[in-house]
Amino acid sequence: MDHSDRIFIHGVSLPELQEWITQAGEQKYRAMQIWEWLYHHQVEDWDGMKNLPKTLREKLSSSFVFAALERESVQESETGTRKILCRLTDGELIEEVLIPAADRRTVCVSSQVGCMFGCAFCASGQLGVKRNLKAGEIVGEVLAAQREYGDRITNVVFMGIGEPFDNYDEVIRAVRILNDPDGFCLGARRITISTCGVVPGIQRMEDEGLQVELSVSLHAPNDTTRDALMPVNVSWSLEELMETCRIYTLRTKRIITFEYTMIRGINDTEQDLADLIVLLTRFPCRVNLIPLSEIEEYDGRTSKRETVEKFINRLEKAGINTTVRWSKGVDVNAACGQLRSKSMGNSLRMKPVPQQSL
Ligand code: SAH
Repeated sequence: MDHSDRIFIHGVSLPELQEWITQAGEQKYRAMQIWEWLYHHQVEDWDGMKNLPKTLREKLSSSFVFAALERESVQESETGTRKILCRLTDGELIEEVLIPAADRRTVCVSSQVGCMFGCAFCASGQLGVKRNLKAGEIVGEVLAAQREYGDRITNVVFMGIGEPFDNYDEVIRAVRILNDPDGFCLGARRITISTCGVVPGIQRMEDEGLQVELSVSLHAPNDTTRDALMPVNVSWSLEELMETCRIYTLRTKRIITFEYTMIRGINDTEQDLADLIVLLTRFPCRVNLIPLSEIEEYDGRTSKRETVEKFINRLEKAGINTTVRWSKGVDVNAACGQLRSKSMGNSLRMKPVPQQSL
């Protein structure tokens, strides 16, 4: 079915819907009724909107469409992490990961089909980017995750497939709808955007007035290593990135978390640690160490446990708030950087590859 001329309803803000409603000759309060159906009752089609006249439902369905993420498959790890493969309305596939904890139900969402940034150790970028997700599809991912959990989502992290700041407008639109008290009503501080270091995106975020958390993927304490690991560093150097982050922190009074994937012998030496400490004591920030999830496409090895522990101790001693993300869901390939390529290689690469059992 061709949806190209219709707009995803979950990407439309309340004021925009109110304007559309009045232009369609209907009462403005209908927009709020629609939003209640979408975000409180979370109906999945127009027929579910029982207090709307049939004529209005027909008008709506000729202009808007539900993102309707179709669940292709689910894999569950021993730790309870679940990876869901979702088919979008145009047939493209994305993945989202549900990470339950005692007091949280987190969903890790994708912002693009593929990624163009090509970090050496990340599986999501190995096949390039196919397209951006629309805001309505991103909100649709969160709603689908909530259906899967059967319980309310408490945290959303943009750490799935794609670079959020390469799809800036749609990501921010989705964040506003998720955050809207009349919409999904999720506190901004429970939403984390992670960027590989797209400097203009960080600068734009300064003026959004959003209290969302910002994570920056650092992964190296000098340009030589960062150039080799992350092609984005050629466009925006480490110095430019750190200066942008310093100004962001100063202006927004919000603390950035730096992500640091630890790769044995590549970015975990004594010198790397010393350089990292210099870098991260320039302004208040946090660091999250992520022992590399080893992937087929990259021959780097994860750091030794004692190296990770040494990093934690020394960073903490230097006054830097440090956390570690020991990988959850490794057995279902749901760890960072393992999304997409396994199941989606087929749809992107034209050459036939053996069917993966999911
Ligand atoms: N494009 C964004 C968000 C997606 S990735 C970004 O780069 O921040 C989310 C995090 O997982 C990033 O910090 C990314 O660098 C990290 N990551 C990717 N592949 C990984 C791997 N194989 N092992 C550990 N972390 C990885």
